[in-house]
Amino acid sequence: MPSTTPAPKKKAAPAKQFAKTKGYNPVAPERVAEILKRLDTTYPSVKCALHHSSAWELLVATILSAQCTDVRVNMVTPIIFKKYPTPAHFAAIEPEELEPDIRSTGFFRNKSKSIVGAAKKIVNDFGGKVPGTMEELLTIPGAARKTANVVLGSWFGKNVGVVVDTHVHRISRRLELTKNNDPIRIEQDLMKVIPQQKWTDFSHQIIHHGRAICVARNPKCAECPLEDICHAGDKTWSTVDMHKDAC
Ligand code: SF4
Repeated sequence: MPSTTPAPKKKAAPAKQFAKTKGYNPVAPERVAEILKRLDTTYPSVKCALHHSSAWELLVATILSAQCTDVRVNMVTPIIFKKYPTPAHFAAIEPEELEPDIRSTGFFRNKSKSIVGAAKKIVNDFGGKVPGTMEELLTIPGAARKTANVVLGSWFGKNVGVVVDTHVHRISRRLELTKNNDPIRIEQDLMKVIPQQKWTDFSHQIIHHGRAICVARNPKCAECPLEDICHAGDKTWSTVDMHKDAC
């Protein structure tokens, strides 16, 4: 007797075609809104992964996070903040004294100089308090625009820009929200298409997405909540056409 068991459903084969639907606009407001909606649903309460209890602690943690994992930074910061509780304590030491404590985060000589330099600047020019404007933050040693955006967004609650780290860079290109490679230009592109009130949330959500699913090599497209609206050229699995320049 022939078997009546239905054949198992086949998974969609990885899409190989590199075609663009005529009139497709990757930054159309409806598409961007759909991306943001799905990110909100998937990552409803994502926050900055760097542990901190003040603007100063967040500034230091962000400086330490360059080329280093947040997990590693979170292991180091409790030790240094116990030893040096305020910016004034950091301002009173030489960078060399800090180096052994932050060595494991990499680039420790430069980072020590930045942190002690930042502490001196904050003590001397800002009364010991981290300032809350982009203009002022950019005068602090070690605080470039990305660091300033982290502090402004995650501590002061100000959406002044979009944090563009390696994850935001990669995923913004895969999602065709930018064609640029320079972080400043990517940020400008994102600021044009993402509503300002979402800038900080978007950064956190994309950073989380980049760690969990849209990883650099072999992104987990079959598990991705954005799969059917993502046309990245380096998808590992796809139900939609892929765009070879979107990666
Ligand atoms: S579908 Fe794949 S490439 Fe696109 S955002 Fe998701 S994980 Fe990244």
